[in-house]
Amino acid sequence: MVEKEVWFVTGSQHLYGPETLKQVAENSQEIVKGFNVSNNIPIKIVYKPTVKTPAEITDICLLASSTKNCIGIIAWMHTFSPAKMWIKGLSLLSKPLCHLHTQFNAEVPWESIDMDFMNLNQSAHGDREFGHMMTRMRKDRKIIVGHWKEEKLQKKLGNWARVALGWNEFQHLKVARLGDNMREVAVTDGDKVEAQLRFGFSVNGYDSSDVVDHIKKVTQVEVDALLEEYDNLYELSNDLQIGGAKRQSLVDAAKIELGLRAFLDQGSFKAFTDTFENLGELKQLPGIAVQRLMADGYGFGGEGDWKTSALLRAMKVMARDLNGGTSFMEDYTYHFTPEKSYVMGSHMLEICPSIADAKPSCEVHPLGIGGKEDPVRLVFNAPAGPAINVSLVDLGNRFRLVVNEVEAVNPMGKLPNLPVARVLWDPKPDLEIAATSWILAGGAHHTVYTQALTTEFIEDFAEMAGIELVVIDKNTTVRDLKNQLNANEAYYHLFKNNL
Ligand code: MN
Repeated sequence: MVEKEVWFVTGSQHLYGPETLKQVAENSQEIVKGFNVSNNIPIKIVYKPTVKTPAEITDICLLASSTKNCIGIIAWMHTFSPAKMWIKGLSLLSKPLCHLHTQFNAEVPWESIDMDFMNLNQSAHGDREFGHMMTRMRKDRKIIVGHWKEEKLQKKLGNWARVALGWNEFQHLKVARLGDNMREVAVTDGDKVEAQLRFGFSVNGYDSSDVVDHIKKVTQVEVDALLEEYDNLYELSNDLQIGGAKRQSLVDAAKIELGLRAFLDQGSFKAFTDTFENLGELKQLPGIAVQRLMADGYGFGGEGDWKTSALLRAMKVMARDLNGGTSFMEDYTYHFTPEKSYVMGSHMLEICPSIADAKPSCEVHPLGIGGKEDPVRLVFNAPAGPAINVSLVDLGNRFRLVVNEVEAVNPMGKLPNLPVARVLWDPKPDLEIAATSWILAGGAHHTVYTQALTTEFIEDFAEMAGIELVVIDKNTTVRDLKNQLNANEAYYHLFKNNL
């Protein structure tokens, strides 16, 4: 695979003469060099020669748009670059843009500063001219302000690049739906054609028999190797161990995993859904198989939920190698007390072990719905700490992302009879306001839960996609949120739909 990259484009003009422009180019190269050795920037930054004319600007924007492995550009106006020169290029640019508002020099050299220095270090006004044009063009972009050597700035830039990687993933993503939607469920359904227009990913339907075909080709050697892996990675319950009463359930689960992987690999699917109502000849609802596929970076949504599946895949790409896991999640049950109330998140089976706080236990238990054999699943708790829940919903005339900032806490008991992975969290600002706001915003019961990403990632992502974002955090009040939803209704009706 060709390495993905972000291009670094410096704007200027010929007015300054060759001497200054030479200095501009050298400074930009030094900044790029600094970014490329930063641990906080997970992608290669590629220096591009300074653009000084409308034609050069248009050319670089066209080239960035058509170069597959370029996932976005960073633009910086070291000197003044009259912004009418940028109109054509910016209107043609189809990749995310980060406006880096920095200055090569950090502190004013009080003793030596002269007009030559001022002519070189003038992004303070050069970038404002550039920014004005993007605002005039109503162009969504990320603005990052600060000195380029600061860790805080590099982290922000690296996070934006991660989001651009997630957005790039959306452009190629294929989502396989095994079976349709859980019957009569509203929020997991939606307009797949509009989603492809807006986000790039395609969603197509398959049948459990497509997976069963692959299961039939699975060899005993493959099954044995996978069973050994289960034994090494998880605490197998007694009945699942060799000679145990339910050992065959584990063998069946391993076959389902191998078949599912082969199906996904063959079709280049990086995200999928299933539903307990369309299991066909599958012996169990896939549990451990789905959990392990999520841990390997696949997107998943239960009950046909293709939006959450695609979103989970994109967020897995953004979060790669960061601390903290990312999982499919569902608001399941509440813990109400007079002092403080909590949400327990879980699912029937499918929680990603990337959020496990210890070695998961591998167990088999009956499942009340679906009418199939008992499914094998991994059971665990998740670590305490800050997290977000993210939901992508289809409102009919547009998509909306809803984020709730939460604080995961340790469960108050051992939950010995609960046969599923779970997380307990304290939603911000509190359960009453968070749940009221979430419901008003039409947020789903399915979410992506992550301890690796913060709201800022999702904010950048919503802007790249050009969709609405509703954030529920410590500052949320229900009255303000209602006003925001009403204002957005008008804004997206009047403006965004006419783009
Ligand atoms: Mn569900």
